[in-house]
Amino acid sequence: MMPARTYLDYNASVPLRPEAREAMLTAAGTGGNPSSVHAEGRAARALIEAAREKVARLVNARASEVVFTSGATEANNWVMAAGWDAIALSGIEHDSVLAPARASGARLIDIPASKTGVVDLGTLAEHLAQAKVGGARTLVSLMAVNNETGVIQPVAAAAALAREHGALLHVDAVQAPGRVAVDFAALGADFLTLSAHKIGGPRGVGALVIRDGAALAPFLKGGGQERRRRGGTENVPGIAGFGAAAASAINFRDAAQRVQTLRARLEEGVLRATPAALIVGRDADRVFNTSCIALPGKAAETLVIKLDLEGVAVSAGAACSSGKVAASHVIEAMGLGPEMARAAIRVSLGHETTEQDIAAFLAAWQKVAGAAALAA
Ligand code: PMP
Repeated sequence: MMPARTYLDYNASVPLRPEAREAMLTAAGTGGNPSSVHAEGRAARALIEAAREKVARLVNARASEVVFTSGATEANNWVMAAGWDAIALSGIEHDSVLAPARASGARLIDIPASKTGVVDLGTLAEHLAQAKVGGARTLVSLMAVNNETGVIQPVAAAAALAREHGALLHVDAVQAPGRVAVDFAALGADFLTLSAHKIGGPRGVGALVIRDGAALAPFLKGGGQERRRRGGTENVPGIAGFGAAAASAINFRDAAQRVQTLRARLEEGVLRATPAALIVGRDADRVFNTSCIALPGKAAETLVIKLDLEGVAVSAGAACSSGKVAASHVIEAMGLGPEMARAAIRVSLGHETTEQDIAAFLAAWQKVAGAAALAA
């Protein structure tokens, strides 16, 4: 028999919500190609448009601004590849922003991050003033919430700065909905990235929200779908599941209180068992569900494997990519050094997390990282 599992890796993927599964099953059996004009096609089209309304509502955008993609990685690649002269971004961004930005040929402007995990916009204004010389097309890209530390970033201030200097703003908001309110209309961003599986929808579907009037050439060409903005037959069940998850994730405040209390208990327990542990980003404004724990001298990779053997699922670094456990580039960009970057694990809670899960984690932590384990 499989031992009971404790899933504390919500930032890698939130368990599929039942209402999303239901919507996906219905959509899988519905109609034809959503671009077809016949009744079967129109039935599929109706599911997509209903989902678009729900996703738009989650982030207070207009439905016309939501373009469905294969996930956040595609949405981020799309924005980075749009022919910018300069891109300002921080080393704490997700790889799906960093890698295409580096490959884009744009001049990169570094936004430094503090040791608590918040980007420092102080020097950005200067850089933006310089970048504008010659009428350069400049993009500022700043994530709303960091996926490893849960630290909330000053996106509204970045939007104001970008506007002031004639730059456009992209926000990777993948880790934000369901944890903090996201208001695309009020924020003043031009592009915003979302991912369904981080809010309890299916994996492999996401969206790029494009401000009405902001120009962005298609990334996937060769089809008139998504009002000519993204070619390719839409993932109808995935989009329907995304819509259902969005409708649920909008009501997160009750769960937030409960989960925040559980996280506090988890962090107190960790510090009691292993006083040398550092809770990364604890002094910054964080979302309620994430705890980034670094125990100097303990490799994250080993901890993750040992915790898994104890039935507890957590991540090391940004390990949502195929089993890769590398040093955390986020912790490095925060200036906490290579030892911390190798040690940091991420424990992330969510709407189904229980007191028993926290107790199970702490028992496992004591066993794999507590005094007895250290002496061994
Ligand atoms: N951005 C952030 C901040 C993320 O956490 C992730 C997922 N780890 C992504 C982008 C990529 O999302 P997707 O899995 O939808 O490609």
